[in-house]
Amino acid sequence: MRIAIFGSGYVGLVTGACLADVGHDVICVDVDADKITRLNNGKVPIHEPGLETLIHHNLKTGRLRFTTDAARAVNFGLLQFIAVGTPPDEDGSADLHHVLEVARTIGMHMQDYKIVVNKSTVPVGTAEKVQYAIAETLSARGVEQDFDVCSNPEFLKEGAAIDDFSKGARIVVGTDSERARQAMQECYAPYSRLQNKLIFMDIRSAELTKYAANAMLATKISFINEIAHLAERLGADIEQIRHGIGSDPRIGYHFIYPGCGYGGSCFPKDVQALTRTSRDLGHESHLLKAVETINQRQKGQLFHKLSQAFDHDLRGKNIALWGLAFKPNTDDMREAPSRTLMEALWAAGARVQAYDPEASEECRRLYGQRDDLTLSRRRDEALEGADALVICTEWKEFRAVDFEALRQTLYHPVLVDGRNLFDPDTVKAAGLRYYAIGRGDSL
Ligand code: NAD
Repeated sequence: MRIAIFGSGYVGLVTGACLADVGHDVICVDVDADKITRLNNGKVPIHEPGLETLIHHNLKTGRLRFTTDAARAVNFGLLQFIAVGTPPDEDGSADLHHVLEVARTIGMHMQDYKIVVNKSTVPVGTAEKVQYAIAETLSARGVEQDFDVCSNPEFLKEGAAIDDFSKGARIVVGTDSERARQAMQECYAPYSRLQNKLIFMDIRSAELTKYAANAMLATKISFINEIAHLAERLGADIEQIRHGIGSDPRIGYHFIYPGCGYGGSCFPKDVQALTRTSRDLGHESHLLKAVETINQRQKGQLFHKLSQAFDHDLRGKNIALWGLAFKPNTDDMREAPSRTLMEALWAAGARVQAYDPEASEECRRLYGQRDDLTLSRRRDEALEGADALVICTEWKEFRAVDFEALRQTLYHPVLVDGRNLFDPDTVKAAGLRYYAIGRGDSL
């Protein structure tokens, strides 16, 4: 099939590369000319395991191409995917500016029947707005042209995006058109061969399914963090509790890892957007508001623990920080707990010596050159001259640590572990003061 994808970010690039890899003919379009030039030269602007290889391979086969030429993209494919950003507006609702701009672009250039597939995360009712924007543009051109709009929310996770796209549990499609249904079936047939993963539903339900999924996952994280908060004050160990509840198949182990809060480009904005939708309907969602409040508190925990460990005086302290990305295997720092921590440390007069396997460049882009931020190339380099170590992201390379050597390197034997990576007794036996999440210390 011939497919156009608007937006060459995490979702657009992964979708484009994966669909080309199974044999479809794909064109990816973006308004960022610099990004498109780099992509055409085989340079992938984001870190996502496996993506570069996939893009190189499919550029070579000729099934994948990148352009800024929207007219070419619209006339290239029957399927027109929208995978542009939907950042939060000032009031927390999703900003549909980019989505509707793409809709108008499609309407502007459309010469024959198209199926417009919305992959961006958008509030219920957006497909109708997209439909209207296209129809209005067509009418301004004086053109009568049939088209369909459907919803195909994306569930991939950054860091495991290729696998999620190719081997995900389900593919949700919302449509009321038989023609669109058949086309979507054909598009996704390579992923649905062994087991039918396609779930068709009405458009509004598909749009809400995405928010419901993210809100549920965020709720699980805030729930375990709430229990961790209690455990810490009651002298209990959240890791033992996690095993105790996760072993119940009704609960399960997924997404009940306590930590320093969720970040990224999706959970925070999607929970906010759903809260906003709820408020607009005259219903205050106490549950979703609590999920967000708990997460904000949790993101402040690392600073709180560190501050207490240093008697509330962090002026002039050098704090080593391992992990800047909001989670492992990505360079994405959107809403990352590391940012909350760094900004609080700087406000308290401390310096940060950070190491991340992939996100240093992004960190420099966000914060620029400043005296109180050093970006190290190795994890041990970040420890040189440091007073304490804080771990924000559970990258694999942080899992094995020589605690004796760590104690000897740090000026103060303080280790704050935002991801509960270690056994407290082992760390403490090496003479370190260990502050994890919900593990019996009440700092
Ligand atoms: P992103 O910010 O990484 O990429 C968006 C891209 O769209 C940018 O390259 C931007 O230049 C481009 N763009 C903006 N306006 C455009 C236009 N008019 N025409 C063509 N390109 C345009 O965003 P993302 O992380 O890929 O997210 C895209 C959508 O998918 C969002 O709604 C997000 O909520 C959703 N989503 C994201 C993830 C994730 O893990 N990142 C997962 C599932 C769903």
